[in-house]
Amino acid sequence: MKLLIKGGRIVDPASQVDEVLDLLIEGDKISKVAKGIKCPADKVIEAAEKIVIPGLVDLHAHLREPGREDKETVLSASRAALKGGITTILAMPNTHPAMDSPVNVALLRDIIRRDAQTNVLICGAITRGRQGKELTDIAGLKNAGVRAISDDGSAVDDEKLFMEALRKAKEEKVLVTCHCEDRVLSNNGVVNLGFTSTRLGLRGISRESEYKRIERDILLAQKAGSPIHIAHISVKESVEIIARAKKKGVQLTCEACPHHFSLSEEDVLDYDTNKKMNPPLRGKEDMEAIRQGLKDGAIDAIASDHAPHTENEKDIEFERAEFGVIGLETMLAVSITELVNSGILDWPDLVRKVSLSPAKILGLDKGALGAGSVADITVVDPKKEWTVEKDGFVSKSRNSAFLGRKLKGVIEYTLCNGIITYPF
Ligand SMILES: [Zn+2]
Ligand SMILES: [Zn+2]
Repeated sequence: MKLLIKGGRIVDPASQVDEVLDLLIEGDKISKVAKGIKCPADKVIEAAEKIVIPGLVDLHAHLREPGREDKETVLSASRAALKGGITTILAMPNTHPAMDSPVNVALLRDIIRRDAQTNVLICGAITRGRQGKELTDIAGLKNAGVRAISDDGSAVDDEKLFMEALRKAKEEKVLVTCHCEDRVLSNNGVVNLGFTSTRLGLRGISRESEYKRIERDILLAQKAGSPIHIAHISVKESVEIIARAKKKGVQLTCEACPHHFSLSEEDVLDYDTNKKMNPPLRGKEDMEAIRQGLKDGAIDAIASDHAPHTENEKDIEFERAEFGVIGLETMLAVSITELVNSGILDWPDLVRKVSLSPAKILGLDKGALGAGSVADITVVDPKKEWTVEKDGFVSKSRNSAFLGRKLKGVIEYTLCNGIITYPF
């Protein structure tokens, strides 16, 4: 099978290419990228005025299967990912049962083998039941196929235990991805501590709860000589701490989510539970710091933290509503609208944040469009505008923080392993 993508703007920072070229795919690999490829193909995609980028790699998504298939499944999440131009997802371990044993990982692998429409990688748990008390069998999890470990949703409070996890993870060469939250300092809050918590009369989540824990985790990672990845940073102090640690040579990467660089705590003033997530929306200056961090390299990657919930779990009082928003289908368009169109990132920068860097962080040979690369490819119309609507989602859940927003950038095609997997 030969597939030719003709006349698109190929943006591939891995090979420093940003120009209008043709791209030929043979089987599951890219075989040639050049001007005016003349080769009979089984299928031609006309990509004039379109941008052709490596498929997105999302470091952080909650697929809810096994256990909460009413919210999302591997099938529905992977279809949502394809609609969002995402070809690889790292599935977080807070399922039921949690991904805390090789048996549970094998169970999920079977589901993935059966249902996944895109590449789905598994993040194992750091502690049993994500309870923070007893380490999982990290070597066993690695053998069962996990790429990373995390107790996401919770942090590992016990320093000794976390240190041991870091050492084991280093030995096994699995990535430790940290949900940084000191729960004593976040104090069961539901919105940012400060203006919004006072205005709404709701319990606040302090900024310290995030950045103090980041400071601790960086120190422990340094002691253990293990690389770490920090998930979903939301406050400016976190950006500063991470930038400083990187300058000192700590092996450290981090991600930020679209809602944290495009919305602020003022957007929650209407008690909209679709804007309730953890960490919460912060101040305008934090939003600016995240944007700046993406621009200057303190922040390596953009991740969705896709967290689907049913309407029953969201359409209730703010304090009782679940934390989390969906993001697979809006991640790229929000990034184009908020970062590229406002001049913060250029296209090669954006591709680094959504594809090349996350691939490197996971140690994957993806995120590139050179000859020989796996043909995970996204074709985007960067000018097409659309409105985020409840009925437009492929995901089983509708809890988007961007409902009603006009966004620029529509995914025209997503190819996974050389096959056109979107449009469906
Ligand atoms: Zn988290
Ligand atoms: Zn998460």
